[in-house]
Amino acid sequence: MQGVKLIMRCSAVSIVLLLSAAIALLYPGRLFASSAAVFTVKVGELKVSMLSEAQRESGLDILIGASSADVAKFIPSEKYPSAVAAYLVESPEGAILVDTGFGREIDRNMEYLGVSAGDVKTILITHAHGDHIGGLVKGGRAAYPNARAVISRLDYEWSPQAREHIEKYDGRFEAITPGELGAGGVEIMKGVSAIAAYGHTPGHTMYLLESEGEKLLIWGDLTHAMAIQMPRPGVSVTYDSDPVAAAEVRASVLKFASDGKIPVAGMHVAYPGIGTVEPDPENPGGYKFIPASD
Ligand SMILES: [Zn+2]
Repeated sequence: MQGVKLIMRCSAVSIVLLLSAAIALLYPGRLFASSAAVFTVKVGELKVSMLSEAQRESGLDILIGASSADVAKFIPSEKYPSAVAAYLVESPEGAILVDTGFGREIDRNMEYLGVSAGDVKTILITHAHGDHIGGLVKGGRAAYPNARAVISRLDYEWSPQAREHIEKYDGRFEAITPGELGAGGVEIMKGVSAIAAYGHTPGHTMYLLESEGEKLLIWGDLTHAMAIQMPRPGVSVTYDSDPVAAAEVRASVLKFASDGKIPVAGMHVAYPGIGTVEPDPENPGGYKFIPASD
């Protein structure tokens, strides 16, 4: 019964995505900000868009370290919203794609924004899981023929799939060493710093965008279950290579974003994917996420 309900919900989401796609084609530029598949914000002179590949519900089976009291309090329905997304940054230096999703819907979403695969100049990979690097390759070739692809050296060395995919970028890929959070990372191109957030994978990397005094931290897979990981940052997930390190880094990054009032964006944060973080007085050590609005 629950399975049937879930399938119905999923197809309802697909219908919404299809409808918003159709509407977006009819009214380009007008409804993007409120489409279910794309959400756009300005960061200084950058235009940053969340490109949704899926909006879905996830279950309790992936959680590590969640007490039954916390589950009852924060996830009473035993299901919570999550997503698969990538981010497009339209900058004066050209289009930057942060992760590529599985490679199913990202290009179509970009096209609604008038950006084609050939327009992408840079791809920044947060980490070497299939829902982030899958779209790097299409039909055995680089899916973004004019892009330079960037990944942390640690994940490049850790993941055979990452090596196989990124080496399709033939002389146009770079394995980097991100900087530390406390130092604000290391600048890898104008207005973009790479920050180490190791734990989810050995080389999991966040990208901090900065333009005209405004910032946005694209935190990759810092969270998978916002419903419980915001109030309880100590809860990790089975996808984490090192659940303890992932929990520590999550607590540090949430404090960094909250103290610095830096807006954040995540690959598994449900629509709109972007928002702000503030301390949650009801849950000491925890945070609240305030989704961005149109
Ligand atoms: Zn992921």
